[in-house]
Amino acid sequence: MAGSLFDGAKQQLAKALKHTKISEDSIERLRSPKSIIQVSIPVRMDNGSLKTFTGYRVRYDDSRGPTKGGIRFHPNVTLDEVTSLSFWMTFKCAVMGLPYGGGKGGVCVNPKELSMFELERLSRGYIAAIADFIGPDVDVPAPDVYTNPLIMGWMMDEYSLIKRKHTPAVITGKPIPLGGSQGRDVATALGGFYCIQTVLEKDGLAANGATVAVQGFGNAGSVAAELLHNAGYTVVAVSDSKGGIYNPKGLDIPSVKRHKESTRKLEAIYCDGSVCDIGEHEDITNEQLLELGVDVLIPAALENQIVKENAGAVKAKYIFELANGPVSPEADEILKTNGVKVFPDILLNAGGVTVSYYEWVQNRIGMYWSADEVKDKLRGRMVEETENVLRIAHDKQVSFRTAAYILSLGRIAEAMEAKGSKQDYLRK
Ligand code: NAD
Repeated sequence: MAGSLFDGAKQQLAKALKHTKISEDSIERLRSPKSIIQVSIPVRMDNGSLKTFTGYRVRYDDSRGPTKGGIRFHPNVTLDEVTSLSFWMTFKCAVMGLPYGGGKGGVCVNPKELSMFELERLSRGYIAAIADFIGPDVDVPAPDVYTNPLIMGWMMDEYSLIKRKHTPAVITGKPIPLGGSQGRDVATALGGFYCIQTVLEKDGLAANGATVAVQGFGNAGSVAAELLHNAGYTVVAVSDSKGGIYNPKGLDIPSVKRHKESTRKLEAIYCDGSVCDIGEHEDITNEQLLELGVDVLIPAALENQIVKENAGAVKAKYIFELANGPVSPEADEILKTNGVKVFPDILLNAGGVTVSYYEWVQNRIGMYWSADEVKDKLRGRMVEETENVLRIAHDKQVSFRTAAYILSLGRIAEAMEAKGSKQDYLRK
């Protein structure tokens, strides 16, 4: 088992620190989060009983601007996880050059066990509990695992009711009629896709039947699978929390996606003798999916999926981390030894926060962009920062993860040091 997620996250930073000349002050400030809030959310259940859920909001660092980061609804949410995710958001926003710091929120709940009414009461209750600590210029939440535009809409509405003013810029990932941005729904996967294309084109491997396996078939994973399928890649396996499906000749991803959308359950795509229109495949476990002999492996579910116990069995040539933290630091070392190229979460899935930033900008200027405008801006930024990471990795002979941290660390430290560092104070 991997240790504390946050300790692992800080190890990633420590590797980058060896290659930068940032001040002791900046290192000191990045050691721990700026603020941690824990709240109890009482929710009236449909059967009349009252149930209390625990929620968190962590703001890691705001040197570059308001903190930004999603809200996760999941039974395994812990303060350690939310802190790690807020830490990664700090570096993710900086790697993309966005004027934000990093934050994250979470509620320990299995949303699949709640009715829609209960889910709405919980979502509004969470915002009521943290309303004094968020805001367009302070901390701006967004969706994450098991939260979606509908939930963001409830949350924006609740905040606006509390503050007695329409405040769309308090949260991103909203439905379009409530101030959401065109393209936000596919942004995480699309950003990842631009990054994958940039890397594989340079290596002469783009499309042309390169094989892909995707773990996690939610917002990020299902859209990434479809984009890659449409671009000519052969997506041979996909999975969700219940298990996976595999066809060495390639799955028909649009059909798998349609099936999931119509049933709202990926489990319904498993050919268990009843409904199944997705063609030939065999059922595989999530563990088997991670060990397939594919060109590209895309973990798009949860953290710590590739750990020291299974890293040696990974046969993929490339891992593109669409999920946050799917590869533990020990696994990273094993993959490096085995020549697997790992592209880090803070770059790969940064398309989501980038279009969230575009949504926030549009809310603040009161003017809205077309889907093509958003896509063009996203592509430009993703390709530029991917090339920056590739260049740093080459010049400094470091991993792509360390290169991404070097890039973001430089930008964060610049902002911190612009307010004065030890050198300035000791100048005679
Ligand atoms: P989601 O809730 O839409 O989907 C999560 C998917 O993972 C579901 O298909 C679920 O069944 C599956 N899953 C859960 N446990 C699993 C397991 N043990 N094995 C395999 N599959 C499992 O969530 P999402 O928004 O797609 O987020 C997925 C990852 O991407 C997370 O790490 C999240 O932090 C990251 N991410 C998402 C966004 C975004 O905008 N949605 C942005 C940045 C990062």
